[in-house]
Amino acid sequence: MTGRRVLVVEDDHALRDVLLRGLRDEGFDVVPARDGAGALRLAAEGFDAVVLDVGLPDADGRDVCQALRANGCAVPVVFLTAHHTITDRLTGFSAGGDDYLAKPFHLAELAARLRVTLRRAGPQAPAVAGDLVLDPVRFTCTVAGRPVGLTPTEFRLLAALAASAGSLVRRRELVRAGWPEGAQVTDNTLDQYLSRLRRKLRTAGSTLTVTTSRGTGHRLS
Ligand code: CA
Repeated sequence: MTGRRVLVVEDDHALRDVLLRGLRDEGFDVVPARDGAGALRLAAEGFDAVVLDVGLPDADGRDVCQALRANGCAVPVVFLTAHHTITDRLTGFSAGGDDYLAKPFHLAELAARLRVTLRRAGPQAPAVAGDLVLDPVRFTCTVAGRPVGLTPTEFRLLAALAASAGSLVRRRELVRAGWPEGAQVTDNTLDQYLSRLRRKLRTAGSTLTVTTSRGTGHRLS
């Protein structure tokens, strides 16, 4: 379960910080969003689960959940709400939520419920490109069956490239895939990561490498 990527959508700054730190301590890989628009934008990056506040400044969390489902996002959604009534529960489930937790709650309970919903959702299929297999559940990478050690950032970058293997992936998209929202990532940093990935793929004997297209993007081919 370690390394499962969770999108946490909460507008309350203090609570968001508690959620980020707490869930990271529980071994989750957490990405924050502060409103519905941010959640929908980030959801395209791919997550294993979403923790979604119902009372967001720009939208009702249940509407955000419906929009996620309409966009094909099928991962578990756990709602957080201040109003713990039976009606809230029912509308939450009918909006496509998997679980419901009333504030205030214990972080350990949220983590436990996330694990249960993730187990119920089942393992995600590994991404395969050429001789490369990336397992998004265990965060492991193999080349022709041999393990390759990657850092979480390297893994996310390679997964983004493998998801569009053979096609150009823009640098902006790679930065979004590799780092948390708002992180300051210089061109130089991204280039260093990509050259490390090239070296690791070469050392592992992969037939694939990461090529550059005139500074606009990169492709795994
Ligand atoms: Ca709120």
